[in-house]
Amino acid sequence: MTLETVPKALWHLRACLLCSLVKTIAQFEYDGCDHCDAYLQVKANREMVYDCTSSSFDGIIAMMNPEDSWLSKWQRVSNFKSGVYTVSVTGHLPQGIVRELTSQGVAYKS
Ligand SMILES: [Zn+2]
Repeated sequence: MTLETVPKALWHLRACLLCSLVKTIAQFEYDGCDHCDAYLQVKANREMVYDCTSSSFDGIIAMMNPEDSWLSKWQRVSNFKSGVYTVSVTGHLPQGIVRELTSQGVAYKS
């Protein structure tokens, strides 16, 4: 198991607006989103980090073994990586990015 997806600090935390992964701004900028970077390309792009993540979220779940967790199966995220996820994130992806996701067949619910 890698710990790269786990937040390295408790400040400047943000949640991905597409998959709800929680990391620090620096981690999103350095590594991108571990699930969504193929679509969102937040890696090395601070502006995209601010557009595609939100500092407003409620509740966090630490998921350390998603393949075997009943919670991850219930939340339908058993194919996600280990890490910290939020239960509820507030914010919207920019319309242009939503259009791009739709054209790639990626479902997005705000
Ligand atoms: Zn994501």
